Amino acid sequence: MKINSNFLNLKDSYLFATVGRKTTAYKTAHPEKKVIRLSIGDVTRPLAPVVIDAMHRAVDDMSRKETFKGYGPDQYCYGYNVLIDSIKDSYSRKGVSLDSAEVFISDGAKSDLGNILDLFAIDNTVLVPDPVYPVYVDTNVMAGRKILYADANLANGFLPMPDFSVDADIVYLCSPNNPTGAAYSKEQLKEWVRYACEKDAVLLYDAAYEYFITDPALARSVYQIEGAKECAIEFCSYSKTAGFTGVRCGYTIVPKELVREGTSLNTLWARRQSTKFNGVSYITQMGAAAVFTAEGEKQISENLGYYRENAKIIADCLDELGIFYTGGKNSPYIWMKCPNGMDSWEFFDYLLENANVVGTPGSGFGKNGEGFFRLTAFGTKEDTKEACSRIRALLQK
Ligand code: PLP
Repeated sequence: MKINSNFLNLKDSYLFATVGRKTTAYKTAHPEKKVIRLSIGDVTRPLAPVVIDAMHRAVDDMSRKETFKGYGPDQYCYGYNVLIDSIKDSYSRKGVSLDSAEVFISDGAKSDLGNILDLFAIDNTVLVPDPVYPVYVDTNVMAGRKILYADANLANGFLPMPDFSVDADIVYLCSPNNPTGAAYSKEQLKEWVRYACEKDAVLLYDAAYEYFITDPALARSVYQIEGAKECAIEFCSYSKTAGFTGVRCGYTIVPKELVREGTSLNTLWARRQSTKFNGVSYITQMGAAAVFTAEGEKQISENLGYYRENAKIIADCLDELGIFYTGGKNSPYIWMKCPNGMDSWEFFDYLLENANVVGTPGSGFGKNGEGFFRLTAFGTKEDTKEACSRIRALLQK
């Protein structure tokens, strides 16, 4: 027996472990200090009442033999019609029309972002933005694919554009981006769609944070761009949109128009899912189906509004200090330049020791993250305000 030795090529993920270890060490040494975490990548607001009610009703359905549900319907890879229809409605409000067979319900975007690679040959070249959510790189390292990087930096506002002299077969885009919070405009995305069509490449478009977008010039879905159905797969999640990080539900759109080497990727994905996946629980799907109803959207927008206000508190603080940042406006992430030429870990230590505030060093997300720092809007309002007044006092000096 031989192991998949590609796993040995993975870099150890020290980022969050080191952040946790340093924070705990500081707290143990200074028990009297209140340490505030602006490093939280998880949501903190509870589920919306419509979601809770729908899930309670679904639990009751499970208690009666007349309404009990076993495996989900296999017509759409175990997705219930009511949920698929609500997702189609949410797309139609963005001007995108979908067929039910193009919507695949998942247990979250992360699984599908990894699983989708089953569809692609090993000798495809992959293009990944740097810095970005580390899952894209790690899943391709596990498979043994060649990875190229698209540099995101100050010069391009952390939104790399296609370089037509580079030949990539699979291109990841994350918008709004984790960790930089930068989001592509529709105009910019047109270029990526043009690149993918010209190169016969496939765009893997991660829209996990699209519900944070309020600016109409920014794309909420890659399919708002003409021609994207012929070249893009979109990954979405209820995690940050509706607080489902612990419930687990997402959806992936694989358009029927997406054909490579004469083969429909929609058909391949349906075959892959019906072979290796047995669906998301009925209770979860019923909760998710409540999210995009009129009442559901109203309720989730209250939570999103809460996080948006936190983001604004942080952004206003950095504006006052004259510190460069991206994100914060259409994203829960604020990506700031470390002051006084500090590197990411130096600034982490400086902020922890002098303001008792924890963030995430940008260097952990890729080489272009060095010298940058990620703050998040997922904490409480009180903590966010307090952290910002400490940051202001420290950096104004
Ligand atoms: N994509 C991005 C860019 C993320 O930051 C995350 C989670 O932090 C995910 C996907 C994973 O989402 P899910 O909880 O749906 O698996």
